Amino acid sequence: MLPLSYHEITDACAQPGCPLCRLAERTVQRHLDRVIYDSVNDPPTRARLRESFGYCYPHAWQLTQTGDGTAVGVAFIYRDMLNAITKLLQTAQGERPSPSLLARLREKLNRTRPSSATEPIVQQLVPGYNCLACAERDKMTDLFLITLTDALGKGDAVMEQALRDSDGLCVPHLRQALALTRSETAVATLLTLTTTKLLALQAELSELLRKNDYRFRGEGFGSEADSWLRAVSAVIGAARPE
Ligand SMILES: [Zn+2]
Ligand SMILES: [Zn+2]
Repeated sequence: MLPLSYHEITDACAQPGCPLCRLAERTVQRHLDRVIYDSVNDPPTRARLRESFGYCYPHAWQLTQTGDGTAVGVAFIYRDMLNAITKLLQTAQGERPSPSLLARLREKLNRTRPSSATEPIVQQLVPGYNCLACAERDKMTDLFLITLTDALGKGDAVMEQALRDSDGLCVPHLRQALALTRSETAVATLLTLTTTKLLALQAELSELLRKNDYRFRGEGFGSEADSWLRAVSAVIGAARPE
């Protein structure tokens, strides 16, 4: 029996951009939707979010774009967090150690580290955990990549064709796939397919540059018009859809 993620991968291959970037983005969005709609009153999730000070920068702002009910969900989650942070600040206010004169002088000359007066609170303001959405995305990405490379390793023609018809894996996801797989067949297929796609993309960039030459401007642009964006996407991963 095929794992559930198998069809999600072949479906994502039929869409533009790196299929793994698309699946990763969908995982994050599903997680954020679930947090807003189901987990607002789930004490373990709230505690975990308090420890990590909510989400990383892009995912915190993505959370605010989740849709209906977002304002109330965010208000619940962040009220908790502000409460925890305020307590830290109040404790720090009451417990400021006063360093010796010599230590003060040394600290004045060296700003690469916090002073002994602020070091404890500086440490406490570092999130205790990584972003929950990033953690969920990374776990699911591993699962998807294992399903993908296991299928390629078995010479699964459907998966191979789906990947061939897709825009291919971006370099970060290719690197992850190569690190996870234990199949030489999968490695060979991934390297061959990606090389072919990157060569085709280079040819499109050359065509874009050629047509930007004033002598050939009259020719008009074809499918290479957005190849510069696809090149960035291939090297670093797809941009978040607006
Ligand atoms: Zn990717
Ligand atoms: Zn994150």
